[in-house]
Amino acid sequence: MPATLLTDASRRLKKAAIYAPISDDATERLKFPKASLKVAIPVRMDNGSLRVFEGYRVRYDDTRGPTKGGIRFHPNVSLDEVQSLAFWMTFKCAAVNLPFGGAKGGITLNPKELSKFELERLSRGYINAIAQFIGPDLDIPAPDVYTNAMIMGWMMDQYSIIKGKRSPAVITGKPVSMGGSLGRNTATGTGAFHVLQTMMAKANKNPEDLTVAVQGFGNAGSVIANLLFQAGYKVVAVSDSKGGIYSPKGLNIPDVQKFKKEQQEMQAVYCKDTVCSIVEHDNITNEELLTLDVDILIPAALENQITAENANSIKARYIFEVANGPVTADADAILEDKGVSLFPDILVNAGGVMVSHFEWVQNRSGLYWTLDEVNSRLRSRITEETETIWHLAQKHSHSNPKISFRTAAYIHALSRLGEALDDRGTRAYYNS
Ligand code: NAD
Repeated sequence: MPATLLTDASRRLKKAAIYAPISDDATERLKFPKASLKVAIPVRMDNGSLRVFEGYRVRYDDTRGPTKGGIRFHPNVSLDEVQSLAFWMTFKCAAVNLPFGGAKGGITLNPKELSKFELERLSRGYINAIAQFIGPDLDIPAPDVYTNAMIMGWMMDQYSIIKGKRSPAVITGKPVSMGGSLGRNTATGTGAFHVLQTMMAKANKNPEDLTVAVQGFGNAGSVIANLLFQAGYKVVAVSDSKGGIYSPKGLNIPDVQKFKKEQQEMQAVYCKDTVCSIVEHDNITNEELLTLDVDILIPAALENQITAENANSIKARYIFEVANGPVTADADAILEDKGVSLFPDILVNAGGVMVSHFEWVQNRSGLYWTLDEVNSRLRSRITEETETIWHLAQKHSHSNPKISFRTAAYIHALSRLGEALDDRGTRAYYNS
């Protein structure tokens, strides 16, 4: 799976490089991560035994600024996966013009097997091991799969102890009480909502006429589902890891959120007392959700969900990638042939890293913004980048083959990265 991620990312880079005004030197540079660190983290477990965990941190490219990317706690974490995700972050930060390069980190484990005490010792141990590799001007981690604000708080705390000074800007996604930004926890879903609204306005579509299915009802998926519901879209299906629910008449998303919180499971949502009789629904699998006859499909759970195997069965006209890498490169080609408009992760879910940037700016200036300020900056910045990518796709609409929004987003990112790399000298410059 990791190999697929990196291969897919490289294929997309190659495709975009044809159209981007960058030198061969720049594409050569982007083939290799700048620095990769593998560490062993010894942790004293609650029963007195010692367990050693393997962790990684990769800084892929820092041409445009200190590197930025999340820390993942997951059994599948490997150096390959972390390098691929760091590559991805490099493009995401450039696509939305953040002054950051790309990085990623992770520890190979199932965090659900650890007690809270063990998790805290592990998080602090990880920072002990990578402290010289990160820093507010060097590399700034954030939460990712199975890490959260509290873990970021422990990590910031540990880094501050090691450096002997309070350093909130070393990590983002912290609790608000420890220097986190207002609006960070809803930023990814909110940013994705603005991208979707901008694109639907370009297509002259009315929310009331559009049906939506959302795979993954977590932090990102539940926020966008709720915003779409409030804006008048008919959200007909949502799911979590245990399955989904579907109602052609549309689901009441605030109710779903409320019952999901109480029951911790999507399929319990409409099987509880009065709600059962209020909304008609069917239980569906995640595979069925992906192939529903809806206008808009939002994969917001995991990577590699739409592949060459099921791409032909997709009926949605628009796909917005809220998850990282939910559509493989093979599936891209099939969807393009079917005329599906796909809006890529490096733009759609960039609201999260954008508000992480806001958090870093606030930590460094010591001046904290209101929620309105955060949300209005997020809206204007992500809408501007979406417009630019849309114009780029229009500009190339007569190219043969026509370029997709994904390629347009990569061209956009690559132009910024290429310019920064080429401004340090190219073969043509030195030979002239
Ligand atoms: P999360 O853990 O809050 O939610 C994930 C959701 O997906 C959960 O509801 C889970 O039950 C569900 N899920 C898991 N396996 C599933 C499956 N097989 N089918 C359907 N649903 C499944 O995670 P999140 O923060 O919302 O992240 C979701 C995706 O968005 C990830 O790909 C993540 O990398 C990406 N993303 C998140 C952020 C962020 O700020 N949260 C930023 C950028 C990208």
